[in-house]
Amino acid sequence: MHAAIAGAGLIGRLMAWRLLRAGWRVSLFERDPEGTDSAAAYTAAGMLAPWAEVESAEALVHRLGLRSLALWPVLAAELGADLDLHARGTVVVAHAGDRADYRRFAGTLAAKLPGPQHWRTLDAAALCALEPELAGRFQEGLHLPGEAWLNPLAVMAALGEALRSGGVRWHRGAAVDAVGPGYLVSGGTRHRCDWAFDCRGLGARADVPRLRGVRGEVIWLHAPAVKLRHVVRLMHPRYRLYLVPRRDHGFVIGATQIESDDTGPITVRSSLELLSAVYSLHDGFAEARVIETRANCRPAFDDNLPRVFTAPGLVRINGLFRHGFLLAPALAEAVADWLVEPATSPCPELFAPESPVMELQS
Ligand SMILES: Cc1cc2nc3c(=O)[nH]c(=O)nc-3n(C[C@H](O)[C@H](O)[C@H](O)COP(=O)(O)OP(=O)(O)OC[C@H]3O[C@@H](n4cnc5c(N)ncnc54)[C@H](O)[C@@H]3O)c2cc1C
Repeated sequence: MHAAIAGAGLIGRLMAWRLLRAGWRVSLFERDPEGTDSAAAYTAAGMLAPWAEVESAEALVHRLGLRSLALWPVLAAELGADLDLHARGTVVVAHAGDRADYRRFAGTLAAKLPGPQHWRTLDAAALCALEPELAGRFQEGLHLPGEAWLNPLAVMAALGEALRSGGVRWHRGAAVDAVGPGYLVSGGTRHRCDWAFDCRGLGARADVPRLRGVRGEVIWLHAPAVKLRHVVRLMHPRYRLYLVPRRDHGFVIGATQIESDDTGPITVRSSLELLSAVYSLHDGFAEARVIETRANCRPAFDDNLPRVFTAPGLVRINGLFRHGFLLAPALAEAVADWLVEPATSPCPELFAPESPVMELQS
């Protein structure tokens, strides 16, 4: 079988990897030339947070997220790569004045995921024992021990390398103008295949209506005085902060969530809010260096849920929103299984027949 995939972002690469391992011949068409990184995947913080995200996401995201949590270590082994994958969990805290927001977060989690196995509450002493760097600043917190994180840049590089050495035919700087059953069109040429996969993220908007961009901004810091070892979420009524540790005292802080298609550089307001929030978490950030700022748009549908549109010879995967790394391994697996046996998919609600234009407009 020959697959032609439009878009070598996150889901395009993961789908290509799945198909390659299943013995398919794969051609990958990417709009960006070599060395450019406009995919949203390159801006992501890399949190794998199926519990914390439940506050604002549907059960489907939690379910697929749990499956992806199990699949990431398998993928790392298959790729033979260090993805900077860590599974120490997330700590959630709030300053005294923002307790109401914290309690609302904990209450929503408790309502949506009843049972003691999902998290534990921490008093000041337990918080200090788990994450000593937060001692003295917060009187309580939550620990979501099952959560993990990875480095998206390591994932994209490892997948790129594995696909290249696995024989995938890369077309770089090859914008795809149309994707249809058994074909795609790039540079005025119609490329035939058995199955075409539309994985263009926001670039698929002309063919997938009601797809919107949700802008997000992140800041990369180097903070030698900070030794935080968990993902930390700081509750705040107006702007929420998450902090993801990287190697060698690196940290990614983010992310804004703005209804906009703007992919321009980070604004002063967002920089001020993110940086003052992170400084309120730990004094050691005062002397941290700002290494880089990034902004991009997440591809999302109205309900912020992913969708797979299908027709014979055609699959469109989109709407991964702020959950791309959390969902993509499980989504690629679900699509690969569906290709073999459509009737027995464990996630039938993901799939909808193609003709999204008609379906979504009705
Ligand atoms: C600030 C921010 C933080 C995030 N943090 C997290 C996080 O912590 N955890 C998490 O799980 N997710 C996170 N995400 C979400 C995640 O990045 C996205 O869900 C994911 O990247 C979407 O994957 P995708 O493959 O659909 O799109 P993309 O990654 O955007 O890839 C689409 C690809 O298609 C290419 N393309 C577009 N048009 C064409 C065309 N016409 N022809 C050929 N190629 C084309 C693009 O160049 C790109 O390479 C974050 C996103 C942002 C912006």
